[in-house]
Amino acid sequence: GQRLAGKRVLVTAAAQGIGRASAIAMAREGATVFATDVNTDLLGTLPEEAGGSVEAFALDARDDASVKTEVARAEPDVLFNCAGFVHHGSVLDATDEEIDFAMDLNLRSMVRTIRAALPGMLERGGGSIINMSSAVGSVIGAPNRFVYGMTKAAVVGLTKSVAVDYITEGIRCNCICPGTVESPSWHARVKALGEKLGNYDEAMAQFVARQPMGRVASPEEIAALVVYLASDESAFTTGHTHIIDGGWSGQ
Ligand code: NAD
Repeated sequence: GQRLAGKRVLVTAAAQGIGRASAIAMAREGATVFATDVNTDLLGTLPEEAGGSVEAFALDARDDASVKTEVARAEPDVLFNCAGFVHHGSVLDATDEEIDFAMDLNLRSMVRTIRAALPGMLERGGGSIINMSSAVGSVIGAPNRFVYGMTKAAVVGLTKSVAVDYITEGIRCNCICPGTVESPSWHARVKALGEKLGNYDEAMAQFVARQPMGRVASPEEIAALVVYLASDESAFTTGHTHIIDGGWSGQ
């Protein structure tokens, strides 16, 4: 289809996982995609895999100066803030360094990209901002996800604030709250838990057991929601948490 024809889309953390699947899905729907990440090796194979119009380039979502220049240059109509990191542990485990890092990457990076993209969107009279939150945080608490849940809940507040301030100017701002999604970093988390338990299969079983459907999501299933929120089909939704968690929080 061509549901995103004529739209310019910028994605952070587009090299792998949900960001990559979303960049590919949006390119295939006719968008011009600016795919950014710090992992330039993986990013390099993206344009060919996507097949559409994709410009892939290095961008550290934690770097004020480069975000300002590069995001403004891309002039996106759609901004998908996907960058984020999962720390393990409770409030007593969390170090100040972990908290500072996660506040910066999971939350502050979105402030950076929005500040860079929003003036252009306002000038052109429209835009859709999609922020990566999680089912973990504002929707449901998960064990040993203190730093992560705290930052992902804050993404919801950021989203609602931006949505309400620009609601009459054609700007929409939503966030997505996935359950567990198969991605390279998720595989690493399963492996780490497996090493802790001395049993990989038990670790995998624990992660899958959180999901009432008995399976985790594919990145493509999340990308389908991103395409919807990027497109004009979602024109009447703003300021919301779009939960896509396989029924995890809906029981
Ligand atoms: P992932 O964690 O496997 O990949 C993350 C990507 O982010 C990598 O390509 C990495 O290079 C990039 N990255 C890291 N630091 C960066 C920086 N400073 N600037 C730009 N890019 C950077 O992918 P994923 O698991 O699909 O996670 C993507 C997002 O989705 C994250 O925000 C995550 O919290 C969120 N999320 C994931 C799940 C899940 O179960 N996988 C569930 C809910 C939400």
